[in-house]
Amino acid sequence: MPTRRKFLTSSSAALALLSAGRSLGAPNPSPLAATGKPLVISTWDAGLAANLGAWHILSKSGRALDAVEAGVMVTEASQNCCVGLGGNPDRDGIVTLDACIMDDKFNCGSVAALERIKHPISVARRVMERTPHVMLVGEGAQQFAVAQGFPLEPQKLSPDAEKAYREWLKTSQYQPVVNIENTGNQKKPTDPVGGANNHDTIAMLAQDAQGNLSGSCTTSGMGFKMRGRLGDSPLIGAGLFVDNAVGAAAATGQGEDVIRMAGAHTVVELMRQGLSPKAACKAAVERIAKIKGAQARDIQVCFIAISAGGEHGAFALQKGFSYAVCDAANQQQLIQSEYLLK
Ligand code: ASP
Repeated sequence: MPTRRKFLTSSSAALALLSAGRSLGAPNPSPLAATGKPLVISTWDAGLAANLGAWHILSKSGRALDAVEAGVMVTEASQNCCVGLGGNPDRDGIVTLDACIMDDKFNCGSVAALERIKHPISVARRVMERTPHVMLVGEGAQQFAVAQGFPLEPQKLSPDAEKAYREWLKTSQYQPVVNIENTGNQKKPTDPVGGANNHDTIAMLAQDAQGNLSGSCTTSGMGFKMRGRLGDSPLIGAGLFVDNAVGAAAATGQGEDVIRMAGAHTVVELMRQGLSPKAACKAAVERIAKIKGAQARDIQVCFIAISAGGEHGAFALQKGFSYAVCDAANQQQLIQSEYLLK
């Protein structure tokens, strides 16, 4: 299993290549190159590694649904501070995970406040495929996961999370830091930790060679959140929404502000009205800025989107958001998102 340090190193290498103006080669040059399909995009620089996990499936004409599950599993297993059981805990010192997944036929599944399960995205998929429900939370979600054969991992913080939590306890201030999802912005285990490292998500959208869309989203949520707090990431319509006839969208950032305007659903509805993915993401961000007023400067919210026609785009409230793209034509790239507040 890669350590957080190794993960940061590989991300830094990827960034160095990109800043030198070279794109990262996709692993399998595809005969579909001329079509631009398949395509996968995901949030932050952690998306570079995750996209490769998805690309193994997409490049062999696999389903977008399988790709978005496999892609974010890379991040869930990476033991970095962002996503999965290596993430920062809530204020009671317990890591609780949120995830959701949605396919091209409005099938969707979600888990929230799930403890001690390594791959919440796969449990979300089982909820979608093997229950009459869309969402399971807390103890019930864990019981379902165990019944489905997912091992119960030890209730233990990763060394980084343990250190971050101990530092946080010194002040117990809840102060989310914008853009902390960028691995380059994350503090190393040796750094002092204050209010940083306290929100984190990977969201992924894919279009397969058949033109079908799917999306996934997985997070340990805001670090040092109140016990029981849920953000946008497990909520279909807030953190993720897919309408195969129109497009797919996903969010990262301050979940409370994404929930209050049904973020991902809003982006898809704006695309339905004819906006491009980027313009739709921008209009959604503008809506958040208007709602928040002067407080908008204290938060980060970002959207990514793909249209049914295979165009992708993103927009952020603040500077610093990047998203990773892997497609047959352009291979692997990290794109700096445009942003609203200059
Ligand atoms: N959206 C996530 C949440 O609110 C956190 C993040 O993406 O930074 O839980």
